[in-house]
Amino acid sequence: MKKKQFKAESKKLLDMMIHSIYSNKEIFLRELISNASDAIDKLYYRSLTDKKIKVERDDFKITVSIDKENRLLMIEDNGCGMTESELETNLGTIAESGSLAFKEAEKSSSKKTNNQEEVDIIGQFGVGFYSAFMVSDEVAVESKSVDSEKAYRWTSTGVDGYSIEECNRTEIGTKIILKIKEDVEEENYSEFLENYRIQSIIRKYSDYIHYPIQMDVEHRHLKEGSKDEYETHIETETMNSMIPLWKKNKSEIKEEEYNQFYHEKYMDYEDPLQVIHTSVEGQVSYNALLYIPSHASYDYYSKEYEKGLNLYTSGVMIMEKCGELLPDYFSFVKGLVDSNDLSLNVSREMLQQDRRVALIAKNIEKKIKSELESMLEEDREKYEKFFSAFGMQLKFGIYNNFGMDKEKLQDLILFHSSTENKLVTLKEYVSRMKEGQDKIYYACGETIQKIDLLPQVEQVKEKEYEILYLTDYVDEFVIQALMSYDGKEFMNVSKGELNLETEEEKEEVKKENEENKKMFEDMQKVLSQEIETVRFTNRLKNHPVCLTSSGNISLEMEKVINAMPTDEKIKAQASMEINVHHPIAEKLKKLYKKDKTSFENYTKVLYAQARLIEGLAIENPTEISNLICDILSK
Ligand code: ADP
Repeated sequence: MKKKQFKAESKKLLDMMIHSIYSNKEIFLRELISNASDAIDKLYYRSLTDKKIKVERDDFKITVSIDKENRLLMIEDNGCGMTESELETNLGTIAESGSLAFKEAEKSSSKKTNNQEEVDIIGQFGVGFYSAFMVSDEVAVESKSVDSEKAYRWTSTGVDGYSIEECNRTEIGTKIILKIKEDVEEENYSEFLENYRIQSIIRKYSDYIHYPIQMDVEHRHLKEGSKDEYETHIETETMNSMIPLWKKNKSEIKEEEYNQFYHEKYMDYEDPLQVIHTSVEGQVSYNALLYIPSHASYDYYSKEYEKGLNLYTSGVMIMEKCGELLPDYFSFVKGLVDSNDLSLNVSREMLQQDRRVALIAKNIEKKIKSELESMLEEDREKYEKFFSAFGMQLKFGIYNNFGMDKEKLQDLILFHSSTENKLVTLKEYVSRMKEGQDKIYYACGETIQKIDLLPQVEQVKEKEYEILYLTDYVDEFVIQALMSYDGKEFMNVSKGELNLETEEEKEEVKKENEENKKMFEDMQKVLSQEIETVRFTNRLKNHPVCLTSSGNISLEMEKVINAMPTDEKIKAQASMEINVHHPIAEKLKKLYKKDKTSFENYTKVLYAQARLIEGLAIENPTEISNLICDILSK
């Protein structure tokens, strides 16, 4: 019999398990029982569509037994079993799902140098089968697959490899045989050969497994008619209540249990941010156990991410990741729905069109929304954590589908406020709008600091109006989709007409602009018609110059869209505005009259300045740099 080598990844994990100083070794049993339960699920699931497979739901069970003398602990199931090649791939190569989460966790914990913390990860989510090596010198797996005539035995004593040979087993299913390690000074492994200890571990971690976990339990009682003679007899007992977590009473479930279930099922080593457990009676009755993760998974904002909730009927899973149960904007929610009203034997396609599934989805959406609203109201810090992970998704939701869902989502989004200096809702903004203010002001830029320094922001701030600072590239699309909030229109402070001046001030600028019309036209020519108009403004307080835009495309959108890897390039309709009270205004007028060359150079430099302030690139940096030097040296 040839010994085979583990794949490199597996070897590493296996090695960690064998040398684990992790104190919570008992979780290996949870892992093996969970695998057994999955294997039964698989067989049952197959039998629903494959008429050749004849099984009775009531016959399914997981049996745990102990052979103290030989130091053996055995876990047997009558699930789908494994073929020779499945034994090879499933146990020789660490399972995809687990390894991914594990690697992710390892990555983030490797920043911490503390060894204990790194090992603690093991307990937080399923690392699966290999955890058996934390307590065993040797592990054997005897298995007969539904798809195979023969049975096989896989054995390994650790990192130096494993072997597979044929064996005798007639029933379909799998038996895991652990040779429990000898006790050492700091570790008492023999406890895993004690009946009571194993029973309590099963009750602790695997109570909700919905197949019976059976053990032979010895009972001792007085012999009939005797006062001091005892007799023992053995009874097979079911150790678990078999009530799935989500069907239990909320009041009986500890936070720990919710979290453990989450770690195990959804491969996330961090605790969820929020657990939503509901039970609904009505047109369609169902239980739902939903989780809002505390962070976005590495693939969340990618195409590979698949949304959906697992769908159960009467405790049996009938569809994994049913996408119909979640709207796209809540796609970050993980969890499951269990409804007795759905039928077991229907295809995925039929379920997807099921009226009852649609009804459940509608209710679930409402529930998630109201949970988020309460979180926003009652625990702002938590909500901000949520928003930093998934706010982007809500924003997509607002402008996707032509803004169809914007009303549902508009109160869930947050923007940075110039006056509050923190994230605020639109409702909060509107509630403190000043008398006479009829617009919601916003400004766009890369960072809050940069926006705060924008010349266009100055005037609005001086009037003591609150401004929303938009820093996400999608923010302006959100604003465009919303159009207004509570009857108030949005107004970009970089747009042409802000209308914040008094009539007098307006008149003054108007006059100046008329008088210098010719000069502005010439400036425009100098800038080769890059911009729509040049004019004086009194919106600026200290800054000499700025760009403003008119039309639907703002300067910020020009930047965002042009940075995208498509050929489509757009241009905002920009105007250059010069501060009428700035000394540069007089200087320009003077130069226009007597020094045309300097006038042209000043125009170019001013325009370059305006673009730079706006975060836009300049097309002729060398020329501008030389011009500045010319001016400096005069
Ligand atoms: P995971 O359960 O996270 O996939 P494991 O390392 O626990 O990872 O198991 C690896 C794979 O081995 C499982 O995905 C499953 O295909 C197979 N397996 C493990 N235990 C059993 C079992 N009792 N019956 C059938 N297949 C099993």
